[in-house]
Amino acid sequence: MEKRGTISAPMAKLFFRYAAMNAGKSTALLQVAHNYEERGHRVRLYTAAVDDRYGHGLVTSRLGPQREAQEFTSETDFLTDHQADAGVACILIDEAQFLSKVQVWALHELAHLRHVPVICYGLRTDFQGELFPGSAALLGLADEMDEMRTICDCGRRATMNMRVDANNRKVTEGAQVEIGGNARYRAVCGRCFRS
Ligand SMILES: [Zn+2]
Repeated sequence: MEKRGTISAPMAKLFFRYAAMNAGKSTALLQVAHNYEERGHRVRLYTAAVDDRYGHGLVTSRLGPQREAQEFTSETDFLTDHQADAGVACILIDEAQFLSKVQVWALHELAHLRHVPVICYGLRTDFQGELFPGSAALLGLADEMDEMRTICDCGRRATMNMRVDANNRKVTEGAQVEIGGNARYRAVCGRCFRS
């Protein structure tokens, strides 16, 4: 058993930064990538293959900048990817709500056994207030979590994602992920979500 104070490997953590829609998650991810690269480090970026709002394999900030990212699907093996190219200083994952539980455990292993920090950005809940699978696993396993704040139209903090139809009316039924990605969403507070 190792004695306290003798651990030589740097401490790496699994982070979960969650928010409602449009809180600037992708912008924050791109900023972190930039900060690493400015100091001469390489990062690996992933985004979910299901998210085709802006085209495949791109992390896109609504404020403008975008860059290419590796897409992940339910088949992606993050440990094998890392073995193939271990020289990255940080792994950044956008749309992390779409990770599977097994994948979140793999990311936890990357942080704690391979010493690579992993920062996941994603939604906490879907339009029915249910946790996404990736978010549920991250809420259980992340070493550090923080909520990125965004504001409802009424001025309160937005915590929910309301799916709305073409007439801006709340939609309560349907699949968690709409195929084609044409669903519209509003980030709202708990009260506006219920009204
Ligand atoms: Zn509100």
